[in-house]
Amino acid sequence: MSDDTAHTTPTTFRATVPGVARIGVNRELKRAVEAYWAGRIDATALERVAAGIRRDNRQRLIAAGFDSIPVNTFSFYDQMLDTSVLLGALPPRVASVADPLDRYFAAARGTADIAPLEMTKWFDTNYHYLVPEIGPDTAFALDPAKIRDEVAESLAEGVPARPVVIGPITFLALSKAVGGAAEPLSRIDDLVPLYAELLGELHRAGVHWVQIDEPVLVTDEGSGSHDLADLAERVYAALSAVADRPRILVQTYFGDAADRLAALGRTDVEGVGVDLVAGTSDGVVSAGLTDKLVVAGVVDGRNVWRTDLDEALAALDSLHGHVGALAVSTSCSTLHVPYTLRGEYDLDAALHGWLAFAEEKFAEVAALSRALTHGITDQAEQFRASRAALATRESDPRLRVSAIRERLAGLEPTDWTRTAAGVRREAQDAAASLPVLPTTTIGSYPQTVEIRRARLALRNGAIDDTAYRTRMQREIAEVIALQERVGLDVLVHGEPERNDMVQYFAEQLDGFFATANGWVQSYGSRCVRPPILFGDVTRPNPMTVGWITYAQSLTDRPVKGMLTGPVTILAWSFVRDDQPLADTAGQVALAIRDETIGLERAGVPIIQVDEPALRELLPLRAADREAYLDWAVTAFRISTGGVADATQIHTHLCYSEFGDVIGAIAALDADVTSIEAARSHMEVLDDLNSAGFAAQVGPGVYDIHSPRVPTVDEMTASLREALAAVPADRLWVNPDCGLKTRSNDEVVQALTNLVAAAHRARDEV
Ligand code: GLN
Ligand code: ZN
Repeated sequence: MSDDTAHTTPTTFRATVPGVARIGVNRELKRAVEAYWAGRIDATALERVAAGIRRDNRQRLIAAGFDSIPVNTFSFYDQMLDTSVLLGALPPRVASVADPLDRYFAAARGTADIAPLEMTKWFDTNYHYLVPEIGPDTAFALDPAKIRDEVAESLAEGVPARPVVIGPITFLALSKAVGGAAEPLSRIDDLVPLYAELLGELHRAGVHWVQIDEPVLVTDEGSGSHDLADLAERVYAALSAVADRPRILVQTYFGDAADRLAALGRTDVEGVGVDLVAGTSDGVVSAGLTDKLVVAGVVDGRNVWRTDLDEALAALDSLHGHVGALAVSTSCSTLHVPYTLRGEYDLDAALHGWLAFAEEKFAEVAALSRALTHGITDQAEQFRASRAALATRESDPRLRVSAIRERLAGLEPTDWTRTAAGVRREAQDAAASLPVLPTTTIGSYPQTVEIRRARLALRNGAIDDTAYRTRMQREIAEVIALQERVGLDVLVHGEPERNDMVQYFAEQLDGFFATANGWVQSYGSRCVRPPILFGDVTRPNPMTVGWITYAQSLTDRPVKGMLTGPVTILAWSFVRDDQPLADTAGQVALAIRDETIGLERAGVPIIQVDEPALRELLPLRAADREAYLDWAVTAFRISTGGVADATQIHTHLCYSEFGDVIGAIAALDADVTSIEAARSHMEVLDDLNSAGFAAQVGPGVYDIHSPRVPTVDEMTASLREALAAVPADRLWVNPDCGLKTRSNDEVVQALTNLVAAAHRARDEV
């Protein structure tokens, strides 16, 4: 093979990244897979797009000056799903799909009669992976076709390819046991021989380095029954003992691998990758890696800020003498940031200078690597530019708005502590006469084609603000009429004006910037464009009051105002890294507080502040969790603590199991909490009860993620179950989440059934 090409440096390398995005600079992969699913293109055409994206990635990395190029980080859907294929661990229910590519997509998305794999958050990022299922009969077997092909196409171009795979510990720790199988990590000894086989295969293909990702080593995952340091030492001692193999880089990211680094140091692997943005160089210094290549992630791979090159170089220098060799890298795959700043024409010059997306990060890595070997002088320009940008960032008035800082500093606990819940309940019951088991919805109604079209027309100037407002008002009127028709008790305006529950607010708050093309993959073909929170956050104008009061003017029933909470706004944005998250959260909380007060003044009796992402920002290490929950809860309470007793505050949570943050949910002190009841209602409610939860709750009785319309009987059964756990005077009846992804027909039928179920249950209590 191509051992002797100019780029190949078999024993070590100096500059790389752990992985890159694969959706395509212009989301080519999204378009192609969606076209394939819709039957508009065939597998050959899809593969052509994929090959183009992979080639483009290799060329970008080579052009940046990297001497080791990650491959196999391409994926048609998800790298964990790819690993399930690699290890022969797809669930048996997809075996009936004959074509491998269709089988893969069946596992990812399901078919008419095959349920897809469950999806969940990749560590504490906004990327979602497909959870592998390990059953009692899962018989692992190596299927290296994908990785072999991607290696071959790279080596054929003379690229110094470093194939990347998810490691066995991470794979199993992130899997779930099904069908009564034992804990997945107990199968580790079945996987090690497969990885050994893979190493042999890659060696024969001419590969010099392989990267095995073990991000789970920075967490407390599996620490109950398996000590992760012991496990890492055992697995990598075994893999490094394989006779003819490439050099092994064990790559960690998203945190400090602490004692696990020392465990890896005791094995014969040749390289260890560390995240020096989330972790520190101290941990590396003490880990005994003096004979290893350390791939130092000093450039943040998951946030968008330009690197302080002097500081990064100092971190690298501090490793000298403590490691065998040093390579520069990003802290993790650049999957989590947009491709390039090119094309962001709306950015003002200052902001442009503060940012670095993937392509700009590659240049930073390369500059640091060259500075390490040749000194700073021939990199002087890059370093000067970095210093100059940082200086303007520190002095920009938008980053320090004294009015908001003083206001935040002046807040007292009384500002975020409402009257006792029981007293509020009386005031609220007196203000509104709701039946027992009141019915409501979570906020959004179907985002129809007309709504999207109107938004597009506004953006490209085909209609003006007034015309847009009129169209949205028409939508609101229809949604109000629909809710009256089906007989709901507490109505909502339907959120037609919101492109996204975070972006909508970010666009109206000062301190945020919305990118033109800053797409990142959320899961599969779905991409999001997170706003960038760069400065102090203030609210120049009311954001929702006009829409909600318009809705209220159309009906005698109470309309619930609808806001996104501060934690969720942070979780789904790129957030400034120059101050503690808690301070930033406090500023966003004040903006939402002003909005709740504004709604109350405008006569809105009920206000919901959504916090679906409360669980998402939970730190990976248990030791950091209390501090996080403390500021997160305080931020929510600042948002909602400025209203009178008679104003009813709702909150809504979803996307997660909340078992480990139930105490924090109780501490939010909302009057009504609607919660996704993905497991059984009893479990959610038992958890809430055990946390001393005494407020009102609405466990979802309609799973809005499915096109299936639940029957009156099913929803009545759910309500009976819920009534066994909480008394009737604390129970609300509502769907699991917003209805924006459903069709109008489904929504009308499902809500009609939901109201009928509530009436039946009322007759029984
Ligand atoms: N109010 C939002 C909606 O109904 C809540 C969405 C969410 O929880 N993710 O769409
Ligand atoms: Zn939800």
